[in-house]
Amino acid sequence: MQESTIAPVRARAAGPTTTPGRPRPEAPAPAHPAGALGAALEQFDRAADHISLDPELRAILRQARREWMFSLPVRMDDGRTEVYTGYRVQHNLSRGPAKGGIRFHPQADLDEVRALAMWMTWKCALVDVPFGGAKGGVACDPLQMSPREVERLARRFATEMAEVIGPERDIPAPDVNTNAQVMAWMMDTLSMHRGYSIPGVMTGKPLEIGGSEGRGDATGQGVVYCVEDAARRIGLPLAGATAAVQGFGNVGEAAARLLAQLGVEVIAVTDIGGGVVAAGGLDLAALRDRARQTGSVAGAPGTFPITNEELIGLDVDVVVLAALDGQVTGKNAGRVRARILAEGANGPTMPDADPILRANGVTVIPDILCNAGGVIVSYFEWVQNREALFWTLEEINDRLRRVILRAADRVWRRAADDDIDPRLAAQAIAVERVARATAIRGLYP
Ligand code: NAD
Repeated sequence: MQESTIAPVRARAAGPTTTPGRPRPEAPAPAHPAGALGAALEQFDRAADHISLDPELRAILRQARREWMFSLPVRMDDGRTEVYTGYRVQHNLSRGPAKGGIRFHPQADLDEVRALAMWMTWKCALVDVPFGGAKGGVACDPLQMSPREVERLARRFATEMAEVIGPERDIPAPDVNTNAQVMAWMMDTLSMHRGYSIPGVMTGKPLEIGGSEGRGDATGQGVVYCVEDAARRIGLPLAGATAAVQGFGNVGEAAARLLAQLGVEVIAVTDIGGGVVAAGGLDLAALRDRARQTGSVAGAPGTFPITNEELIGLDVDVVVLAALDGQVTGKNAGRVRARILAEGANGPTMPDADPILRANGVTVIPDILCNAGGVIVSYFEWVQNREALFWTLEEINDRLRRVILRAADRVWRRAADDDIDPRLAAQAIAVERVARATAIRGLYP
């Protein structure tokens, strides 16, 4: 009998090898480097083991499809030239064009961008938007740069990526230390090169140039939809519940504000400059103004200082992680007292922390689900740009809610059916989808 043209994604127990006479390759021995890439690979290997992924598909999906590294000389305001390093990694394109943010951060490096690109692949697949995964980064400290210097860096990066990105190829978005203005500069640069406006090349743009209603708050809004859903599942009433939020940028500020609108008392917030706690709840609007003016929430009147470590161990109902990766590890996971740990950031929990959190009954909303609101509304923005027809905020939020809660429902059901933690459930669903798409497309040539 001829084999199905739709290749199986599960390993065959026995049977024909792909090349007659040659043994079928064994799954590569897991080698997990340190940091975000190690975490991403370890999570992938767990999911691949759980679904008994075909070893050849495992080998394909374990590696990025394409990687670029750019040297980015930038003229600084004082006339000096500073040379930065930029990265773009496309992890997988089987389900559509590459999609993923660009971060400007001193710690950005190739391995971190590889991990973030891989997580984007799983995230897009989990919420079923027709994109592959990518990520970009520049190793720089934009907090020490003037707006004009950041603009020159953004435009130089966009120029180096001119052949890589495009609405049909690879569509960047904001991430840590980049925002709608940075997207506008990059979109303008690309459009100037081509000679006509290409709004669909970037998402997370300002409304005035083809951005979408609701994109600014989308990731935080998605976090809050997921928290509401998880709270309902564990019987936690949100009105009157308490929360702590690590990171007070695009994701953290919106999540805190939208949680407060549901009656949650946000009692602690940290950011790069420090943290604040107030037992009776924080004045979030005042914190937002302070962060805008001084660069940090630290020292806000009527609050006490708090560190990231202390925030993670606070006796609150919900902790939202919305800063960087690697925050909850095997060392501090046992101190988490929250009932819900919502991963607004990418990779905030290391693999050695997961079993501890599970054993302690902490409901973890895994990053590829919890923070997917951003890419879902980016998808809506890209669709609106293609159609040149724009939706209302109500339409956006209604669609966002339906898409993210459908994915959440699949994750919780899979976790219950297979008796696994929600991260493994989310990864298993996503890896299966990407593996299936990769197998159906087949190997070229
Ligand atoms: P942002 O730059 O807007 O905000 C980051 C926040 O984290 C800032 O408040 C910053 O002060 C704080 N921070 C930085 N270092 C810190 C530290 N060491 N300790 C405590 N706080 C620290 O970035 P963002 O867009 O809000 O992204 C935050 C996280 O969410 C990242 O992991 C990002 O990949 C992820 N994410 C973002 C989006 C999006 O749409 N922006 C989508 C999905 C996931």
